[in-house]
Amino acid sequence: MSDVYAEPTTGADPTDPATLARYTTLRLGGPAGRLEIATSADEIVRKVQEAEAREQAVLLLAGGSNVVIGDQGFPGAVVLIRSRGFRLVAEDADTVTVRVEAGEPWDDLVAATVERGWSGLECLSGIPGSAGATPIQNVGAYGQEVAETITAVEAYDRTRRTVVRIPAADCGFAYRGSIFKYSDRWVVLSVDFRLTRSPLSGPVRYTELARALGVEVGDRVPLADARATVRRLRAGKGMVLDARDPDTWSVGSFFTNPVLEPEAYDRLRERAADLGEPPSWPCPGDTVKVSAAWLIDKAGFGRGHTGPEGVAISTKHTLALTNRTGTASTAALIALAREIRDGVQTRLGVTLHPEPVLINCAI
Ligand SMILES: Cc1cc2nc3c(=O)[nH]c(=O)nc-3n(C[C@H](O)[C@H](O)[C@H](O)COP(=O)(O)OP(=O)(O)OC[C@H]3O[C@@H](n4cnc5c(N)ncnc54)[C@H](O)[C@@H]3O)c2cc1C
Repeated sequence: MSDVYAEPTTGADPTDPATLARYTTLRLGGPAGRLEIATSADEIVRKVQEAEAREQAVLLLAGGSNVVIGDQGFPGAVVLIRSRGFRLVAEDADTVTVRVEAGEPWDDLVAATVERGWSGLECLSGIPGSAGATPIQNVGAYGQEVAETITAVEAYDRTRRTVVRIPAADCGFAYRGSIFKYSDRWVVLSVDFRLTRSPLSGPVRYTELARALGVEVGDRVPLADARATVRRLRAGKGMVLDARDPDTWSVGSFFTNPVLEPEAYDRLRERAADLGEPPSWPCPGDTVKVSAAWLIDKAGFGRGHTGPEGVAISTKHTLALTNRTGTASTAALIALAREIRDGVQTRLGVTLHPEPVLINCAI
């Protein structure tokens, strides 16, 4: 699978057990009750309303890069979000606001903004999936997150049965979270991003990125350099989709970095005294974010560690769980995730939580 999503074949039977695996980057997921494709905001709303009228549950699926779908699949209506495009809706001397259709492939959008000299998304280069899914978990990487540039989200409110524009302040953005994650209420139709007119990136905040660019943290670099370097760093970790590289057949990071209260962090440091200092970042309210990759590695699950049916930790990144043969089941992937979560809990006393949305499966 490339960055461009799979399209349904005409006449294909959605109840085929392999159906949803075609639409997820993990290549996992069973049959669908019904498969719909929606190519505009109006059509997305209509498909959702039609499913409701049939009293069918709805699953919105765009790039399928942040979902783990169970082997039993999804018995309701799966609506594939395939709306495309973006347009300028406001501008002044310093900024532009672009309104992006939910199904627009994210990295195409980032490429287009970099090309036009609009700064604000460049460090989010190479992330798969759709623009409309970025507010769901407040997508972030290399020191940038979409909460910094989103000004509003247009969504269909399934509770009130109306389309609303939700200002960013009401989106509840948090680390890998928002009001939209794990909620059936909102169908994102478009997202507004306010970007800065500048040939330069925002201040580089991520040490690894600064080092790779040969600059100091806080410096700015040409947008195209930031994009190219982020993509290169990501590719080295298997974090850019590549149909030929099974290390990328994942959902990216399977676990979020745990955010610990100060007491829990002190306990971790005691338990890990023989393992070195856990890499960590200060967070609001004296809490501390700890590297999940480090915890997993120190608990004894190194790169390449395998689980049942050939599922494995990526050989390039400890946080990515892969279906490297393309033939495993969701049950096998979940078994590997459980083994890792329980091992980290037993060895280091920290509970890891999954980052992707789990559908008809649980760890
Ligand atoms: C190799 C790889 C690297 C990754 N790197 C990163 C990273 O660096 N940072 C990061 O944050 N994430 C990363 N991810 C995760 C993922 O790419 C992002 O979360 C992305 O935004 C998901 O987009 P999608 O279109 O694939 O969403 P999907 O997987 O299709 O859907 C994800 C969730 O959002 C819901 N959803 C999708 N579209 C809509 C909509 N229009 N309205 C309402 N709900 C919707 C779905 O129902 C589901 O619950 C990575 C994934 C992979 C495979």
